[in-house]
Amino acid sequence: MAMRKERIEALKRKKNAIILAHNYQRAEVQDIAEFVGDSLELARIAMDTTADLIIFCGVDFMAETAAILNPHKKVIIPDVCAICPMAQQLPQEVLRAAKSEHPDAEVVLYVNTLAESKALADCICTSANAQEIVRAMDAPTILFGPDRNLAYHAQKGTSKTIIPVPEHGNCPSHHQITLEDLQEAKDAHPNARIMVHPECIPEVQDRADYIASTSGMVKICKAVEDEEFLIGTEIGLLHRLEKEAPGNKFYPLSNTAVCPQMKMITLEKIEAALEHEQPEVVIPPGIMEKARKPIERMLALSV
Ligand code: SF4
Repeated sequence: MAMRKERIEALKRKKNAIILAHNYQRAEVQDIAEFVGDSLELARIAMDTTADLIIFCGVDFMAETAAILNPHKKVIIPDVCAICPMAQQLPQEVLRAAKSEHPDAEVVLYVNTLAESKALADCICTSANAQEIVRAMDAPTILFGPDRNLAYHAQKGTSKTIIPVPEHGNCPSHHQITLEDLQEAKDAHPNARIMVHPECIPEVQDRADYIASTSGMVKICKAVEDEEFLIGTEIGLLHRLEKEAPGNKFYPLSNTAVCPQMKMITLEKIEAALEHEQPEVVIPPGIMEKARKPIERMLALSV
């Protein structure tokens, strides 16, 4: 492993490359990255970097978002099979059908969406700014997809009518965290505060002390010491929390909250991606331009 890390570092220097890793990546992938963050943080960093080559360690929609915002940079995803199942739940035709059923509604899509669907949206949102974005929309009715659980969270921040599209979209890794998991974890760590991601089911959100995006969780935990937290999100985040907020103790709300697609990226695949500069994320130009507008609108609306 040490030799592979050295080879990766040498390739990075030689190719003026940068490695970006999502919070849910394997610990060793996070450790070799220049930046670790959520999808929006990583897309913003991709916009600011002077690197010629961006190795994006995450799933398809994240690498696509980075590529959409950086049309003149080369974005590589080390494994094209790292496909987010939630994003797949809202293909363009499902969204088109919902739009024709609700012609006066505006469309807000979670960033965890395919580029082809983003191209039909009025605005994109993240788990950190979903409430803020739906409030900023003009229409009284919002088609919101693809995560029904995030739609529930967004609805709590507005009197507008939020219609989830599709009806039952969800992230399998978060949706499987149950109230029983929460109770079991709380019984084992009674002093721990419960922090959950808004991709969790409503019953779990309603029992939490904090509902936060992954970047929000890191911020909250870094601001305190000697606290215990039960973390209700993909367990990869615990590595970052332990590194960046070491004065606290962290326990997963569920040990099975693992995203298999996120774990597909390995050091071996990163080395091959750097070496061969493949597989490159390529988005058809028509979709690229249409998808950029709602992302840029979100960036303008969100501080
Ligand atoms: S954690 Fe959920 S939303 Fe994120 S990539 Fe995995 S399946 Fe998709």
